[in-house]
Amino acid sequence: MDRLAILGGPPVIKKPFPRYNHIGQEEINAVNRVLQTGVLSNFLARWGERFYGGKEVLAHEKMWEEKFNVKHAISMNSATSCLYAAIGAIGVGPGDEVIVSPFTMGATATAILIYNAIPVFADIEPKTFNMDPDAIEKKITSYTKAIVVPNIFGHSANYNRIKSIAKKHNLKIIEDNAQAPLAEYHGALAGTIGDIGVFSLNYHKHIQTGEGGVCLTNDDELADRLCLIRNHAEGAVESKGVTNLINMIGFNFRFGEIESAIGIEQLKKLDRLVHSRIEIADKLSSRLSDIEEIQTPFVEPGCKHVYYVFPIRYKHRMKPLHRDRIVDALKAEGLTFGGGYVQPLYLKPIFQKQIGYGDKGCPFSCSFYKGTVDYSKGLCPVAEEMFFHSLLVFPICNFEIAGENIDLFSEAFHKVFSQLDELIHREEH
Ligand SMILES: *Cc1c(COP(=O)(O)O)cnc(C)c1O
Repeated sequence: MDRLAILGGPPVIKKPFPRYNHIGQEEINAVNRVLQTGVLSNFLARWGERFYGGKEVLAHEKMWEEKFNVKHAISMNSATSCLYAAIGAIGVGPGDEVIVSPFTMGATATAILIYNAIPVFADIEPKTFNMDPDAIEKKITSYTKAIVVPNIFGHSANYNRIKSIAKKHNLKIIEDNAQAPLAEYHGALAGTIGDIGVFSLNYHKHIQTGEGGVCLTNDDELADRLCLIRNHAEGAVESKGVTNLINMIGFNFRFGEIESAIGIEQLKKLDRLVHSRIEIADKLSSRLSDIEEIQTPFVEPGCKHVYYVFPIRYKHRMKPLHRDRIVDALKAEGLTFGGGYVQPLYLKPIFQKQIGYGDKGCPFSCSFYKGTVDYSKGLCPVAEEMFFHSLLVFPICNFEIAGENIDLFSEAFHKVFSQLDELIHREEH
């Protein structure tokens, strides 16, 4: 076998894998059609027919409602906006605690801070990287209002347990489903299980409109509140006759007509795209299954994983070699790989220094907050182990790989893992 590329040998992958291109003639035609109307947005920030946006916005939302079999789809300019609106819609405010995963994109937790509430981090399970129901239960206090649950990497969280915990303690569930469109949990579609489900149309995700997001809900009142927060609520409540004014400070989270027209074409392709990601992941899992030092992705029986990324666990206790050295070696062979995914969120300065709003430490030291929150290192040991030692992630959504490239992927892995001793040797000298 050739010498490792990181030690001066020839790399396995000489030509980078082709980037996945989401956009085809269908999207180009849709954009042209909208441009010819001259109407790029049709929202008005006051109560009336146009409060809900233009023709494309409404058609796009209707498609989501049908596809996911839910009563309401509310589109916004990002999943981040959707998360902010969702936290507002369920009535979270100063002094409240909201339980959330530390192992997710930052916006999942900052959405809580925006409403002057306190993110409380509960650790993840090592198998699926999703929130551990036991950890959630331990974090519940008399201040807890809701749980924000990401379906991370494309695998649904454990909703049987999470729903019963939420019911027992009268908590709302927001699903951050940005990474898991069409993932399934015991016959239910991820993103339709909690009170509100949030999807992303950002260009990193399974389907995209550049930027964009969608909230799904079956609750009429929550849908109404999401629409208000999206579109300058404070200007519409009076004429609309809204009496519950909690969190009726609005934003401009409106989605454009062009993006909605693109979204319609993208949604038509979602099944095919997700299916192709599953096919690639299944092939990679089976090809890598003989490598002792790694664990390929786990899929809970009764669940469908849609692989936003392909997560691999390195059994770091087997070898005196750090995960990052393996990432370096894989990269040198020509594979795009990341180590660790995200730093557990509580380790970021905003939580370590507890500075949210202004310079007075709000919301953490806000006088409405009567609890005590912990963001110390070691708080969520599983998330920390994944980030610092174990996890390798391949951004499967960004590539179109088949045939020969699957072979090359497998070859690069086998090459690196059969020569770990060379890397260890190099570390020692
Ligand atoms: C991408 C992502 C978001 C944010 O999506 P945007 O549309 O870029 O705002 C939120 N949560 C998770 C888990 C994500 O992966």
